[in-house]
Amino acid sequence: MRKRLIAGNWKMNMHWNEAMTLISELVQKESEGNWRNADVTIIPPSIYLRSAFEFLKNSGSKIELGAQNVAATENGAFTGEVSASMVHQIGTSLVLVGHSERREYFAENDEALVNKIRCVLDQNLTPLFCCGEHLDHRNSGNHESTILHQLESVVFEFTADEVSNMIIAYEPIWAIGTGETASPQQAQEMHAFIRTSIQKKFGNEVSNKLRILYGGSMNPENAAELLAQPDVDGGLIGGASIDANKFQAIIEA
Ligand code: PEP
Repeated sequence: MRKRLIAGNWKMNMHWNEAMTLISELVQKESEGNWRNADVTIIPPSIYLRSAFEFLKNSGSKIELGAQNVAATENGAFTGEVSASMVHQIGTSLVLVGHSERREYFAENDEALVNKIRCVLDQNLTPLFCCGEHLDHRNSGNHESTILHQLESVVFEFTADEVSNMIIAYEPIWAIGTGETASPQQAQEMHAFIRTSIQKKFGNEVSNKLRILYGGSMNPENAAELLAQPDVDGGLIGGASIDANKFQAIIEA
């Protein structure tokens, strides 16, 4: 049985006191609410990770921390970069890799994504690998081949053991931050396709264990139906994750 994971990608939002207020609101809601059915991870900007870790630890929270990005190399003369070992040392357990915004605005290619995942795994962190198709790929009926290509060129570079330590997020690009959501049927279809592709390459044990999250305008209104699909094991939430009430509603959906 795969435990649901709800992960909140804060992106480059909120100033320091807003971020700290949101964390304390979430901890409060966690203590009052019913979060037993889901693991919860928040993914703030890297510069907030250490304080977030200390706050969560001191309050006895089970909320875990993720980083939005790490460098594709472990250390050295790479001004402005943050390494996987750095985010590991300050209490992070998961790292996003391959988010469509990183691919598009920072020109991250498959080779960089493979290197990033290697760095993340070397630190015993969990890579959360994002894949998703553009609207024209869906409209032309090429959504499955696009996703398969993304899996083949990154995830298939790793061993079954390594893949069993990964999480995948299916994030149709046309649904990210747009208010448009994949229908529960579309999400289920793609999640089943991803699971079958993983099964064919790595076998049943890996594919049965793999958590596949849906991302793309998930909100309190559509979360329950999306999360009820048999191959949807949780959500990667952008916009709704920086509102404590909305994020809690999704966790409890
Ligand atoms: C995301 O950026 O991963 C995401 C799913 O964003 P949103 O929920 O805002 O569509």
